[in-house]
Amino acid sequence: MFYIPTATGTTKNESSSASDWPPALSSYFDPKPMDFRPTDAVGVLRVRRAINQSSGKFAALRPIVNRNAFLVGCLDYTEHSTIEHLIIGFGGRYGTTTKVSGLMHAVGNANSVAPTGAMLTAIENNLRSDFKTEVIIFHNHPRNWFNILFDNAPIASGQDRAVLLKQLIAPQSIVRTLLNGGRVLFYLGENGFVRRIYTPELLDIPDRLAET
Ligand SMILES: [Zn+2]
Repeated sequence: MFYIPTATGTTKNESSSASDWPPALSSYFDPKPMDFRPTDAVGVLRVRRAINQSSGKFAALRPIVNRNAFLVGCLDYTEHSTIEHLIIGFGGRYGTTTKVSGLMHAVGNANSVAPTGAMLTAIENNLRSDFKTEVIIFHNHPRNWFNILFDNAPIASGQDRAVLLKQLIAPQSIVRTLLNGGRVLFYLGENGFVRRIYTPELLDIPDRLAET
């Protein structure tokens, strides 16, 4: 899971209906795991190099990589890790893909990871800068007893969903940019798969935006 730390150091988790569902159940609404092609491995070394350079700061991807190549790079970097990583890709929409020009990386522990303040600021600034900007938020779940037993596709925790909705998408400043066309895409890596996190709650967002 990933979460936004509060001033008191506790995790903010205002639960809502779907967030209280068992994670495996709400994941039925997510698209199937991504189907990558061998050519998507082109970004693995570039992503790895940028992650190693990042240590919390923005690291450029040169040359830039497409979204799927970026995700394969994230999966490759985190697949055998025993802790959670948060990798945020910054870029712009280009046809059906995203051209990812740089990233920021943070590490967590075995069960959670949180973005730094610098990351949150960078997300907001990136979304504000242009109507075609996109931010890709990837985090991984280390191998656990569940996927060792069931060889499952990635399952977002209720906490993941609550954070997605209430703390990253809801802030007014970001809502306005999203109305102008900027996009935040969420992905989860687990058990060798990458899956986009897309929930019934997220389907409501156009309505919520209309209310603001
Ligand atoms: Zn998670």
